[in-house]
Formats: sequence, C-alpha cells, structure tokens
Amino acid sequence: MATHPYAAVVVDLAVPKSLDYAIPPDTQAEIGMRVKVPLRGRMVHGTILEFKEKPEVKNTSSIDTLLPESIPVDLLKLGLWISNYYCSPFFKVIKQLMPPSVRQGMTEKQQLFVKPLLSRPELAKLCLTKPAAQRDIIDALLQAPKGLLLTELLEKTGATKSPVTTLAKQNIVSLAPLTIDRNPLDEHDFFPTKTKILNHEQQTAYDQILSSIDSKTFQTHLLFGVTGSGKTEVYLQAIEQTLSQGRTALFLVPEIALTSQTTERLRSRFQEKVAILHHRLSAGQRRDSWHKIRSGEISLVVGPRSALFSPLQNLGLIVVDEEHDTAYKQTDEMPCYQARDVAVMRGKLCNATVILGSATPSLESYTNALAGKYHLNPLMERADNASLPSVEIVNMKLEYGKAQGFTLFSEKLLDGIKSRIASGEQTLLFLNRRGFNTSSSCEACGEAVTCPHCSITLTYHKGDNLLSCHLCGHETRPLTECPSCKAHDSFKFKGAGTEHVERALHAIFPDIRTLRLDADTTKHKGSHDKMFKQFRAGKADVLIGTQMIAKGLHFPSVTLVGILNPDLSLHIPDFRAAEHVFQLITQVAGRSGRSQLRGEVILQTTLPSHPVFLKAAALDYPAFYTEEIEARRSFQFPPFCHLVKLIFSGEDPTATEKHAQTLRSSLIQKLPSTYEINPVIPCGYAKIKNQFRFQFLIKGASTRPITDLLKTVPSPSSIKLLIDVDPLSTYF
Ligand code: ADP
Ligand code: ZN
Repeated sequence: MATHPYAAVVVDLAVPKSLDYAIPPDTQAEIGMRVKVPLRGRMVHGTILEFKEKPEVKNTSSIDTLLPESIPVDLLKLGLWISNYYCSPFFKVIKQLMPPSVRQGMTEKQQLFVKPLLSRPELAKLCLTKPAAQRDIIDALLQAPKGLLLTELLEKTGATKSPVTTLAKQNIVSLAPLTIDRNPLDEHDFFPTKTKILNHEQQTAYDQILSSIDSKTFQTHLLFGVTGSGKTEVYLQAIEQTLSQGRTALFLVPEIALTSQTTERLRSRFQEKVAILHHRLSAGQRRDSWHKIRSGEISLVVGPRSALFSPLQNLGLIVVDEEHDTAYKQTDEMPCYQARDVAVMRGKLCNATVILGSATPSLESYTNALAGKYHLNPLMERADNASLPSVEIVNMKLEYGKAQGFTLFSEKLLDGIKSRIASGEQTLLFLNRRGFNTSSSCEACGEAVTCPHCSITLTYHKGDNLLSCHLCGHETRPLTECPSCKAHDSFKFKGAGTEHVERALHAIFPDIRTLRLDADTTKHKGSHDKMFKQFRAGKADVLIGTQMIAKGLHFPSVTLVGILNPDLSLHIPDFRAAEHVFQLITQVAGRSGRSQLRGEVILQTTLPSHPVFLKAAALDYPAFYTEEIEARRSFQFPPFCHLVKLIFSGEDPTATEKHAQTLRSSLIQKLPSTYEINPVIPCGYAKIKNQFRFQFLIKGASTRPITDLLKTVPSPSSIKLLIDVDPLSTYF
C-alpha cells in the first residue's frame, strides 16, 4: 500500500472543516480510521476523511495515535452524502455513524476468571494441607469445577484476592482475564420457527426480490401489501436467502418498542445471527454490538432509523418495514435525514437490494414505483385465509342529536363492544389524544391555561390531578382562581383524551376490563411489551390507545376497532395532513380481523363524507393516491418539488425573527427566481422550552442550489438554525 504524507481529519468537535495532519512515518493509516490528534493544546478524537499529498496550511501537526476503530469506507461515503444533501456539518454526521461509546474508544469488558488446574481428587487432597483462606477457595472451586469469575468467587467465600493469587502462583488455579459479552438479548431461548409456504402473491413478489438479490446489483422494491398480507414472511425469506449467500442484512423498523412482534419473529427465525439495537441498550452493550457487527460475527441487524449506520460489511439486503412511518425522519437535530431515502442510497453504494414495505406507502415511494424507479410488488389479499375488515363510517353529528349533547361513543360502537365482551372477542379503541381533557379554559373570561415555557395549552390528567405540557413536561395543579379575571372555580375542561375514554367506558360497562396504552402508561422499560402480551393473553376486553397501537401488531382475537374522532388531525394546516390521516386509519383498521374471525371497524366522525374518510373506509389506497397526487400537483408540493424548511430558535423573539428575515432577504437575492421563498412565520409550536421559534419554507425543483447557499451562511451564536431538507411537516 502506498503511504501518504498527510491526512484530512474531521475532529469530533464543532469545527466545520476538516483539518490536515501529518501521518507519522511507518504507520498504516487508513481512510475511516479513528485517530487522536492535537488541537489547541489538547488531544481530541477524529476520523481520517482522505489522504493528501500536500497540506492546506504550513506547520501541520502530526497525528498522535491511530486507534483500532474505523468506519467502513462505504459508510463514510454515505456520511459524506448525508452531510452534503442534508446540509449538515460532517462532525454532526459522524455522531450518527458511530455510537458515543465506540467514538470514545470504550474497550471490551474483561474480568478475571479463576479456573482449577488440578483434578478434583487432587484438589480435595490438597485442601487438607492448606491454611483456612486457601481452603475456602478450593472448596468453592470443587463446587464449580469449570471455574468462576473472581468477583463471584470472592463474594461466595468472603475471602480477599491474596489467597487466590497464592494458589495461582503455585499453579493450582489459573487467574486470567476473560472477555465478558455484554449481550443485550435475554438468555431465554426462542423456539425456532419454520419458513411458511408462500401463497401465490407472496411467491410472485418473492421471486422478483430473489432475482435482484441473486443479481447482486442495486434495486429497490416497493412491497405494497395490505395489512395482514404476509409481508413479514416475504422479508424473512429474503433475509434467509441473503444470509445463505454469505452476505449480511439490515432490517429497519419505525420503533423497536412498538414492533416487538416483528422483532420476535426475526429473532426466532435467525437466533444468534441477529443483533437488535434499541434505545435502551447500555453504552457497553452498544459498543459490543458495534464491534460484533464490524467484525462480521453478526450478520443481521434489526433496529430503528439509527441502525441504518450499522457497520455491516458485504451488505446484500436492506428492509425498511412500514416505510411510510414518520419515525424514519430525524426532525429534532441535524442532520434531519430521512432513513428510508438514505437506506436506498446505502443500497446503491453497496449494490444491495432494498425492500420498502407498507400497506400505505408514502406518496413519494408509490410515485417512484409507478414511474418504474422502484419495482412494485403488490400483495392485495390477506394471507392465511383471513379477509379484510369492513369499515363503517358513523356520523357523530346524528349521535350528538340522539344523545342530546356530546358523546364519546356511538350507539353502534357501544353495541359492538357489548357483543364482543359476550363472545370473548376483543376491541381496540384508537384516539390520538392522551390525558383526560385536552384543554382547560376559564368560563368567565375565556383565558386558556397554557404552558409558561411553550405555546400550547396544558392537558388535564385526572389520575394525577395535574395539568401537564406535552412538549416540555411542565406540570402544575389545576387552578382554582383565574389569573386573568379572578373568577373562582371557573375553569372548564374540554376535549377528551385516552384517560377520559377509559373512565367513560367503565361508567357504561362497570365490569369491563380495559388496558390503556399511551405515553403516560408506558414510561417504564418493557411496559409496551407487557401490555401487548397481557392483551394478547385475553387479560382485557378493550385496549385503548394512541397511535402506539396502530403499528404492526397482530392480535388474533380483535374483531372490532373503534376510531374516535380522527377529524382533529385533518385540520392541521399541513400538506401531508390527509396522507397521515389515511395512513393512520388504514393501519389501525388493519388490526381488526387478522385471523379466521371477520373484523369490523367503526370510524366515528363529524365529517362523514370527507373524501379521505370515504377512501379509507373503502380500504382503497390507489383511489386515495390518485386523488391526493392531483392535489399535490396542482399546489406544487412534493413529490412535484422539493422543500427546505429553516427553523430559527432563540430566547429573544425579536432578534430571532429579524435574523430569519435577513437570511430570507439574502436568499431571495441569490436564488434563481424559479425558487419560491415563503414568508417568515412563527412555527406551529411558536415557543418550546422558552425558545421562540420562527420558520420559512423554500420550494424548488431541486435542493442543491438552496443547500449550497446555506452552507456558506454564518449564524449568530444566540440563535439556532435547524435546516430540514425534505421536511415531513411544514407546520410544527
Ligand atoms: P403483514 O406484515 O403484511 O401485516 P404478517 O406478516 O403479519 O402481515 O402476516 C399476517 C398473518 O399471516 C401472520 O399470522 C402470518 O403468520 C400469516 N402468514 C403469512 N404468510 C403466510 C403463509 N404463506 N401461509 C400461512 N400463513 C401466513
Ligand atoms: Zn411546556
């Protein structure tokens, strides 16, 4: 290998550009290698980006240490692409590419292990001749002839380390370091499951995917399969095929905690070959998984969007399950990458097959499929002889008339729940609001209780008798006096959340058994899983939940799904509102009738003839697509253009807005006139945690001219600028 005199290094600090360092002679530096370099009088970690024959400055310092960790070259390339496309400095991208424990060079965990070197009879004989402390040690080892960790041994015997060292010196025991595997998978085994015989539709889709895998060239498939059509079985067989060719596979899910059933199916099929990456891994577990993946010991990785950066080598297949899910987009921090799109890019860089799967594909993906850019593989029927549920729209305006006022449940829904309780079947109730009431305001003067730090109203949680902010977590007791007009006990609560639904249900059916699944009831580790299992085991008649219950769950006894008030989400002023409502309804409805029992869905709305509800009730995605894509075309929204959203946040609202205005003016001057630059407006959440937020949107044929300009703008340190390329939401 040719040696190069210099290397460009990106340090792990907020330094926007790479810095040049001399490579010490006689060392084997490689691109992607982690290094320690001197910077302003201290040592910092960094990554070698490229080699150079000549440095950009004179007097370069030399790299201090070449570290054992390295980012594979293809991932580094992907990182550079992300940095460029999503307009994010590379030091921020590196943070995504490597977990902190790996970046900081955490080592493997080693513990001293004590093993007897003599046979049992020999040990027993020796025991008699030894002083008490050594005798205790030998006794303990007679019980554990294979040996013990030193810590365990000392705990068992209450001895100090010194008698063990003495025995080791006399070659009676060995005392040596052992690498401890911080394996996050629990010990209990999983029953291996067998592959299923694919039905005709599955087989056709699988054959297409298989030919891509075998060709070892990049190709993207859109597996468009209705809920329960057996997409997972197709993924599993595609993975099996990839692994059998000695290649590796990556499986992305929107959220690990909400997709435990899919994860379990992967785990039982692939056993020890799989690593499951989730948010709750310890730093040590994350470090160990990363190295096992890097070394090839692990060949299948399952995880949320961050798992996309697993250092798998020889990657043959990437699956993005529920590809439409908003969790794939990073929105709170730069780079604001869309993992689904980056997955396709990663596939391209390493000649892998990519499968995007969904019952309700994003408009972008379906458009790509229709245009032939992606291969469309439809699964239009449910697998295993199950049939799709029937969806009925109930006009809540008529129900309010019958009830002479507001009511949460239609008569039809109550009858449905009652008959399910009688027959031992189960019901799922979906509502996109947690808490008891969604707002509280003074009846006398109309003053609403808002969060002191954010610009939203507080939600009342009856169980805790607290008002809480769903953006920052601020909590306060309900007010007895209105701060504005001083009226007493004038606060009225409005809007119902999941907690309210649960109480109302118990008032109607005193013996009903309910489970509630939302952000309030799932704060603890493993709580989702526990509730899913309880529900599946029939421990409740009704499961009430927010969109957490919409994702990929399989409850064979659920035959009724009630969707309460989806109207609110339709009123969000965002070009994707209709798409999100359609996806949510289809996904929730898809939880019904997934076995031999026929499923029913009741959709309660005050807008019974809204086209989105009509198409969702007909479970007709293509019809929804045809209508929605026309709206996008006429208003020129994605996929017919690209958007870049700029969010400015700062403590001083005037200065923040002014900075946004200044940047907007300069962009108007520099960008071609075909680019549309919207006015500066406060964000939907105009204040979060005392930071005032303003935004403006740029629309154009391509993002490149916009991001090229943005890369050059300096920002005052008191104002944060978040650049969101291809944003999901244009409102919040
Ligand atoms: P999807 O992911 O498309 O919603 P699943 O993969 O969860 O659907 O499949 C729905 C049900 O059908 C599961 O219980 C699964 O075990 C079953 N299933 C899938 N494919 C087959 C098949 N070829 N033969 C029999 N049962 C199948
Ligand atoms: Zn708040």
